[in-house]
Amino acid sequence: MIKRVSIVLANYCPHCVPFSLRNAKKMAEYLGVPLLVLDIELPEQLEAADNLVEEHGDWSEDYLIPQVFVEYTDGRVEHLLTGFSEAVAATEASWKALFSSSHYQSLAHEPTGVPHSHASSHHNSLEEFVEKYLTFQGQCHRHCDNPSTLVHLKSDSKSLIGAYVCPSGYVSRVVYFSAFPDVKPLKDFLYSQVGQEIVKDRDIRPATRHGWELGNDALAEIGSVSPTGVIKEIYWTVYPKTEDERRRGIFLRSYLKQGRRRGKLFIQNKQ
Ligand SMILES: [Zn+2]
Repeated sequence: MIKRVSIVLANYCPHCVPFSLRNAKKMAEYLGVPLLVLDIELPEQLEAADNLVEEHGDWSEDYLIPQVFVEYTDGRVEHLLTGFSEAVAATEASWKALFSSSHYQSLAHEPTGVPHSHASSHHNSLEEFVEKYLTFQGQCHRHCDNPSTLVHLKSDSKSLIGAYVCPSGYVSRVVYFSAFPDVKPLKDFLYSQVGQEIVKDRDIRPATRHGWELGNDALAEIGSVSPTGVIKEIYWTVYPKTEDERRRGIFLRSYLKQGRRRGKLFIQNKQ
């Protein structure tokens, strides 16, 4: 039996309020259970929020919000959704896909709530899957008002590293995609490109992407690119703390290799 729906959020976060809070309320009403709202800005709710995210969600020192869970009376907790760093519109779209998924309907009827991804004859590579379902048009962050697009930097059969880059080459964030949440390949890659000093743990944030929040086509295909039925994203978004850090930025020197845009990261002053 489902006990409640829980959402970890903050009022300042545009991915959280108003629409994620509204959608979590809608979900709790649909399931006929209470909604637990844990606001990380309220000291009395922070510990419970941290515990839920650390044990069942996408945990890091400065984790992503919102994170949404379904809690069962037998103690099981299922992670349903984490906000998309790429764009608020991507988080909104993931709620929409969740609501129209068979998984969402099954929550109301089958209290086991075991996520399932359908076997598919379609065999995509992880890179193709990411291009189709996990690539969004973003907005350049702390640099200009232009859109940012995902440039693939490194890929193999199991993982992909890409960077969201604006037309001037400024990098808003680097994203690692894999079936498993292994942070080491991402760190090794970043160290090799920009050095260790600028890569801080607090700027690294994981997110679990389920098929149901990416739409029915993705749900049908996710099993062929991930044995776990989920794709883990790990974001590296630099949040500068000092004046010196604010002046600098990560940029991409891009080039064409076999017709595809590739590139190398480097640090320079923004002006
Ligand atoms: Zn820019």
